[in-house]
Amino acid sequence: MDLRFGAEQERVRAEARAWLEANVPRPGRGGPLPSLDTAEGFEAHRAWERTMHAARWSVVSWPERYGGRDLGLLEWLVFEEEYYRARAPVRVGQNGIFLLAPTLFEFGTEEQKDRYLPPMAAGEEIWCQGWSEPDAGSDLAALRSRAERRGGDWLLNGQKTWCSRGAFADWLFGLFRSDPSAERHRGITYFLVPLDAPGVTVRPIAQLDGETGFAEVFFEDVVVPANQVLGDVDRGWQVAMATAGSERGLSLRSPARYSEAAGRLLSLYGRCAEEHPGRAARLADDVARALMKAEAYRLHTYWTATRVLDGHGVGAEASMNKLFWSETDLHIHRTALELLGPEAEIVEDDGRPGEWLDGFLFALAGPIYAGTNEIQRNVVAERVLGLPRS
Ligand SMILES: Cc1cc2nc3c(=O)[nH]c(=O)nc-3n(C[C@H](O)[C@H](O)[C@H](O)COP(=O)(O)OP(=O)(O)OC[C@H]3O[C@@H](n4cnc5c(N)ncnc54)[C@H](O)[C@@H]3O)c2cc1C
Repeated sequence: MDLRFGAEQERVRAEARAWLEANVPRPGRGGPLPSLDTAEGFEAHRAWERTMHAARWSVVSWPERYGGRDLGLLEWLVFEEEYYRARAPVRVGQNGIFLLAPTLFEFGTEEQKDRYLPPMAAGEEIWCQGWSEPDAGSDLAALRSRAERRGGDWLLNGQKTWCSRGAFADWLFGLFRSDPSAERHRGITYFLVPLDAPGVTVRPIAQLDGETGFAEVFFEDVVVPANQVLGDVDRGWQVAMATAGSERGLSLRSPARYSEAAGRLLSLYGRCAEEHPGRAARLADDVARALMKAEAYRLHTYWTATRVLDGHGVGAEASMNKLFWSETDLHIHRTALELLGPEAEIVEDDGRPGEWLDGFLFALAGPIYAGTNEIQRNVVAERVLGLPRS
């Protein structure tokens, strides 16, 4: 096995590194950006997406006609390594770029790809995911928001909740029950809905810190034309599972995110070893474990990417991936907080938690979003290991 990168990957790495070094917002040149869970921060992150798009770095693996560079999966992973190395802003368009776009490539008509992909790549249209409902989370097939035919159009009614970035997004990809008489996993249709359509009400959900990372979205007789259905009518579950595969599998959480955090953890350990040698010695194994987990995830992802390039799918194994990245993230951040000791709780001058505490609070959500880890364990047990349902 040859673990070295090829000439094309090294070329992409060098070009991306130079561009990111020259352009990532830094103090003195517009950075760091305000939190994207605020109106101002959301627009600042949108502007960053535009800057990336203008230089064709926003969607490197997409075809050029949609704004990409036609690069392969391995080159995309290399780009991601550089992106995290440069500590560039969180991708405000991630739900569209990493979740909806792969689904559009698989299920979209040519007309839909031409219509939705270019503005998504440019940050002109930012998407949120409208799947969860107050009584449908883990049991997503219990969703009750409905779609009824009206002439050639559809009429949407119901409520979605926990839509990340929904407070400021432009469009929503959502699941609606189109055939109430069908078996639960059938009779669901996947819709693309503009959030400024008449009858849509977006209600921001304030988090503990007062920022609005989520929204609930209400639909009251919202008219949607038939060409905004993605995939076949009543077969939205299959389309949704493709999106979920991207969310849990390759595209949402690239390994660079964890390698970068593990590298920072190692620096923190070095500082702790000087200032609190006893504490550092006690935590040395946890630091080593964090580095090994991050590297294992990196190698596993390159292995998966190589398999995908050889024509294999990811399938239910995406659930193992999701368990691993969410638990690795928690492990890295928990270890960092222990290294910091009481210092971990010191807030910044603007009242925000420090970088590690902030990261820890978000890591706590990892075992919940993209399908809870309990559910992923069920999937792994039944569909990867072939164990009986009970
Ligand atoms: C940060 C974050 C971002 C999110 N973003 C979005 C978004 O953009 N769009 C969207 O639609 N949703 C989003 N969600 C919602 C998320 O998908 C749901 O929270 C998740 O699917 C769990 O659903 P629930 O909250 O209703 O919990 P429940 O389904 O009520 O689960 C409660 C607990 O019971 C456990 N449980 C339930 N069923 C089983 C079972 N069969 N076996 C074992 N244990 C079980 C669960 O694991 C969990 O611990 C987000 C959530 C978070 C935390």
